[in-house]
Amino acid sequence: MVESYGPGRKTTVRRLPQRAVYDRVVIDQILDEGLVCHVGIVEDGQPVIIPMAYVRIGERIVLHGGNASRVMRTLAGGVETCITVTLVDGLVLARSAFHHSMNYRAVVLFGTGAPIEDPKEKLDALRRLMERLTPDRWQQVRSPTERELKQTLVVAVSIQEASAKIRSGPPADDEEDYTLPVWAGVLPLRLATSAPVADPDLAPDIPFPPHLGHWEKRQ
Ligand SMILES: Cc1cc2nc3c(=O)[nH]c(=O)nc-3n(C[C@H](O)[C@H](O)[C@H](O)COP(=O)(O)OP(=O)(O)OC[C@H]3O[C@@H](n4cnc5c(N)ncnc54)[C@H](O)[C@@H]3O)c2cc1C
Repeated sequence: MVESYGPGRKTTVRRLPQRAVYDRVVIDQILDEGLVCHVGIVEDGQPVIIPMAYVRIGERIVLHGGNASRVMRTLAGGVETCITVTLVDGLVLARSAFHHSMNYRAVVLFGTGAPIEDPKEKLDALRRLMERLTPDRWQQVRSPTERELKQTLVVAVSIQEASAKIRSGPPADDEEDYTLPVWAGVLPLRLATSAPVADPDLAPDIPFPPHLGHWEKRQ
């Protein structure tokens, strides 16, 4: 098992390098907490960055999309990509405009895409994509048909290098600014749920399922 994903040629953090982390455990934690990644490709010299759902499986980031999706087709062709995941933990309000910042945990990773074509592996990857967000839901819902599976491209990006960058704590003001009569500190931010909204077409005798309880609690 890889214990560290860097630093490598592509992942050496230049600004504020003391915030860089290459430890696999830390990087995995951020990847497993994020909901959305941003996937970069270059087409005819034009960079494009597309937000997508994902799941980390070992040392791979697995993505899915329709056969017609440009980013999926490009990645399935075996090209290199750069993927980022960002968790925003707070707004850092300093006494000067200059030192305002954010508390965050972010990962930048580099890897090469390859399609997952083996039917069993493909189905398992799709299950894991669903189950990381809603555990146990896969067995509650209708399984994909063969036609639906054929319409879906699943791609695994093997992580070759990765870096995390983490900022936490209060603002870092200039010494002479600490006497300014300005409120300074952190406004913590987190992802929260609101009360579930049932589909208007839901049969009234179907209750909210226990397997979604962990989302309900995140208020
Ligand atoms: C929520 C959020 C908001 C930010 N806002 C700003 C902003 O407004 N202005 C600003 O200048 N910077 C901002 N940053 C920091 C920014 O992401 C870069 O870290 C910063 O621009 C310095 O990059 P660099 O020139 O040192 O690295 P680069 O030379 O651009 O990158 C070299 C390598 O360092 C690693 N790396 C760089 N940044 C990160 C990162 N954030 N996470 C993980 N790995 C990284 C990557 O592997 C990258 O390939 C923000 C970061 C986050 C997460």
